Amino acid sequence: MPADICPFCNETTEKGTPTETACTICGKRFVTDKVCSKGHAVCLPCSSNADEMIRQICLKNDSKNPVEILERLMSLPQIPMHGPVHHRLVGSALLSAYRNSGGELDLEYALDDLKWRSSNVPGGACGEWGCCGAGVSAGMALGIILDNGPMEREKWPIPMRLTSRTLASISSVHGPRCCKRDSYFTMVEAIKFISENLSVDMELPEKIVCTRRSNNRQCIGSDCPFSDIGKD
Ligand SMILES: [Zn+2]
Ligand SMILES: [Zn+2]
Repeated sequence: MPADICPFCNETTEKGTPTETACTICGKRFVTDKVCSKGHAVCLPCSSNADEMIRQICLKNDSKNPVEILERLMSLPQIPMHGPVHHRLVGSALLSAYRNSGGELDLEYALDDLKWRSSNVPGGACGEWGCCGAGVSAGMALGIILDNGPMEREKWPIPMRLTSRTLASISSVHGPRCCKRDSYFTMVEAIKFISENLSVDMELPEKIVCTRRSNNRQCIGSDCPFSDIGKD
């Protein structure tokens, strides 16, 4: 029987003796035989609520690495291989890592704001608008960080400069679309841009390697820079 994966941190969860413990997400006590190696346990109502899991993972982690946070979010069982939820995940992971890296932010408010903003970008915007939703998710996050708006003067262009870089990077390969690939491209650009412009240094993994190729029938294989095909 395959080991379970902790829905909060992605670590392996071994089956143990049933004991009463507090849910990592909501704090309610419940009896479980599944506690991960880092001590997390998540009750059934919480693990079934993707919206709250996204929020709580972003609020309650201390990682400075937005790709690591993004992987946790993308590993939630409710998150599909592709879909507009990625427009929320990328920016949320960035906001979380930005706060954890010393960036000034009211994270709870920022995550709610980003959830609302990203809900306005439909699936397929990459092909239909010429504007990938994962790529603009970074622009939304930076807009929130800077408290930017359409009437600002000095800071007005800054999130668009970031978005122009994420979209350039995403469009450096051919389609079909892949929400994972586009999210990784975006993260690499966003981490660099925020370091250069805001002097907040988040961590970027030495190498991003996609582990979800088998779930993607349209994977472009070795043409994707994050593919493990033919690169060892
Ligand atoms: Zn865990
Ligand atoms: Zn709970």
